[in-house]
Amino acid sequence: MTDLASIEAALAPIAAGRATVRLDDERANIVLDVTGLPVGSHAELEADIRAAVEAFPGVREVRVLLTSERRQRRLIAVASGKGGVGKSTIAANLAITLARSGQAVGLVDADIYGPSQPKLLGVEGIKPRSEGEKLVPVPTPYGVPLLSMGQLVAPDQAIAWRGPMAGGALGQLVDAHWDADLLVLDLPPGTGDVQLTMVQKHKPAGAVIVSTPQDLALIDARRAIDLFARTGVPIIGLVENMAGYACPHCGEVSEPFGSGGAEAAAQALGIAFLGRVPLDIAIRTASDAGTPPAAGNGPEAAAFEAIGGRVRDWLARQG
Ligand code: ADP
Repeated sequence: MTDLASIEAALAPIAAGRATVRLDDERANIVLDVTGLPVGSHAELEADIRAAVEAFPGVREVRVLLTSERRQRRLIAVASGKGGVGKSTIAANLAITLARSGQAVGLVDADIYGPSQPKLLGVEGIKPRSEGEKLVPVPTPYGVPLLSMGQLVAPDQAIAWRGPMAGGALGQLVDAHWDADLLVLDLPPGTGDVQLTMVQKHKPAGAVIVSTPQDLALIDARRAIDLFARTGVPIIGLVENMAGYACPHCGEVSEPFGSGGAEAAAQALGIAFLGRVPLDIAIRTASDAGTPPAAGNGPEAAAFEAIGGRVRDWLARQG
């Protein structure tokens, strides 16, 4: 007859207090708490525990159940009324800035129309593996693990998706083995059925709206704001991208669309202004090369840091 105390004693050096054993005749039921352990170590730990308990002659069957305390994880959506305004660029660099300040941040690329995050973060072509039923995010060189719609489907396949399908696929990206407290969510551009379903289903804690100076007075940014208002998601604020033109030769910033319009537009829309990022060829070339500017120490990084700081303040105020 095998006694519980000797099984517990055998497990102590292996499981370090994480295993709870129950004996049911000849079956050992073990609950293993893997909270905080790297996902990659779970299988090995489980196998070691299994082997140690199977070694007891009175045990015929071993069942191991892995549990983990659910970490309180928040989602921040990055949205825009239309494509091409730099939404993905802002999302990637915001995530990196937040990670550089010590937060555990992941990036979810839900842009089914043009999932560009694998390229922006220098991990194009790398597929996530799955463990259990869930995906394991792809690590990137910038401390921000990534899951992208582009890793799940061929580029031309998702375009035809309707809301429920896109919302379901997003579930796979969000409900994954994240080692992060905060997920930055790069939404598809626009404010249609697809975006609405995603926002309704995954309820971000807040939303960042990206716009360019020439669109600010236009209906697109307003539509994006309406989408979140309708779903009860607070707006963190507005980012003005491609604001002013940074001359690649002398660095001088000129303002073809005037300046101060974004602050005024944010005020008129009743939302906070988070900052501006100039139209700068260095941002485009760094992004194309998979070396996001926020990861460097150049002047481009400063603009993203300022925006990240305001987002951090907003998060801190939410508690
Ligand atoms: P969206 O996600 O809104 O479709 P992207 O982030 O993919 O837009 O940006 C569209 C293009 O504009 C990309 O080539 C990107 O490198 C470039 N871009 C974005 N923001 C800037 C900027 N501030 N300065 C220069 N190029 C930019």
